[in-house]
Amino acid sequence: MAYLQALIHYAMHFGVIYYFAVKYKHIGFSASKIYLILLATLVIDIDHLWASPIFQADRCSVGFHTFHSVYALIFYLALYFLSRSRWLKLFSFGLLFHLITDEFDCVMTMMRLK
Ligand SMILES: [Zn+2]
Repeated sequence: MAYLQALIHYAMHFGVIYYFAVKYKHIGFSASKIYLILLATLVIDIDHLWASPIFQADRCSVGFHTFHSVYALIFYLALYFLSRSRWLKLFSFGLLFHLITDEFDCVMTMMRLK
């Protein structure tokens, strides 16, 4: 079950964003550029480096790490709705989808540990 969870998690981080890139290439960017912008949202996982311990199995990122906090979520939402820049809107969409992906992982972890 843990392997399936990891597979789903990384499929969402790397595969589903590819689907978004192909599906939404009409917004003015090429699919590869959209994919790279969405892929760049993984940069927020840098906040794992200043957590102690850096990695802890079954710890939920959302609500624990700096860039996965409620304040970060509010900032990403504001960026999405208030930004006039298309790439910033796309980047903030990617950040929001990143949090959804991580939260989905948290839900799967909770279900697995019950
Ligand atoms: Zn994350």
